[in-house]
Amino acid sequence: MNVLVINAGSSSLKYQLLNPDSGVLLAKGLCERIGIDGKFTYKAEGKATKDAVDVPMPTHAEAIQAVMDALTDSANGVIGSMKEIDAVGHRVVHGGEAFNKSVLITDEVLKAIEDCIPLAPLHNPANLTGIRACQKVMPGVPMVAVFDTAFHQTMPARAYMYALPYEYYENDKVRRYGFHGTSHKYVAGRAAAMLGKKPEELKLISCHLGNGSSVTAVDGGKSVDTSMGFTPLAGVPMGTRSGDLDAGILQYVMNKYGLSIDEMLNVLNKKSGVQGVSGVSSDFRDLTDAFEKGNERAGLAVDMFNYGVKKLIGAYAAAMGGVDAIIFTAGVGENSAAQRMAIASGLEFMGVKMDADANKARGKETVISAPDSRVKVLLIPTNEELMIAMDTAAIVK
Ligand code: ADP
Repeated sequence: MNVLVINAGSSSLKYQLLNPDSGVLLAKGLCERIGIDGKFTYKAEGKATKDAVDVPMPTHAEAIQAVMDALTDSANGVIGSMKEIDAVGHRVVHGGEAFNKSVLITDEVLKAIEDCIPLAPLHNPANLTGIRACQKVMPGVPMVAVFDTAFHQTMPARAYMYALPYEYYENDKVRRYGFHGTSHKYVAGRAAAMLGKKPEELKLISCHLGNGSSVTAVDGGKSVDTSMGFTPLAGVPMGTRSGDLDAGILQYVMNKYGLSIDEMLNVLNKKSGVQGVSGVSSDFRDLTDAFEKGNERAGLAVDMFNYGVKKLIGAYAAAMGGVDAIIFTAGVGENSAAQRMAIASGLEFMGVKMDADANKARGKETVISAPDSRVKVLLIPTNEELMIAMDTAAIVK
């Protein structure tokens, strides 16, 4: 079985063709500058990446057509015809309270995704555009929507409610939704496999640490709390996002500098986080380099991030009444041994004992805790595309 995975943005579209049963990736690439001048990148597995080529893409439909042409190309293609694509899995950012799992796309589903636009005004419209373009180019091929928020719909009310007037929840759906659900679900599944246990038997804390970061408590295979909130601005400090902060600061700063709420939100989303604190970069590699050259603020930014993650691990262990394994994933989690060590050290009191040698691993599934550590610490590379393909296959089969 072959599943095409589509992640559509407003002017870009990422794609992968994979076999969800074997996990084999056949080809992947990127359409960029859709509606502008159109740039197309394609890489068949095992072959060299081709340079981006100009392909006219006035809309997402031409972008999808370019993907089809490349996949079926006689020289560099990986399939004979479009008939060899059994289903399409679409990443959709926000499913609100309507979706607690991936679903086959129908007209009603499209309507429900549309209803979630106010919750994700930048992302859901682009995701819908990608779905409609695919339906146009690939009529009759079953399509599945996989939501970033769905995995977190199992959170209990005490975790997802904000202590605001109840009407904001009842009338306006203001609540914690959480994001990165596809990643947390994937690594939680892999953790169970690595530990030889059923998901129902495990209490896990999944740390997705990248440019955007979130930490999730997974009890018995279900998300019971997560650090991102109504929007992906909440939680730990991120590349450029502030993470959690005292809302009172908004009034103080806005009054002092005469900022509008949109300007303030732009500061919180784009100029804060480790970039804002360090004044150096949003990229953790740059921060580590700058700190080694003596930049104290770069060191402070990384320290604040690590401390934020550590505190959530403590909080979620308390929330679940224990923890069997802590998972590190995404750019920082998969690559930065120093940050994993900084986050997990000092947690010996709760049964976490790292193995410095094992922790040198990068980008491959590895147990990085000591053999006698009561709580296992796992490095698990995330694979959201594979998770989307697996969900899609399970639904269309
Ligand atoms: P995104 O949220 O954009 O998907 P990624 O998961 O790709 O982000 O993570 C990007 C982050 O991972 C960047 O801040 C990058 O610096 C960091 N990263 C990648 N490799 C390393 C490394 N070796 N050490 C520290 N950080 C790293």
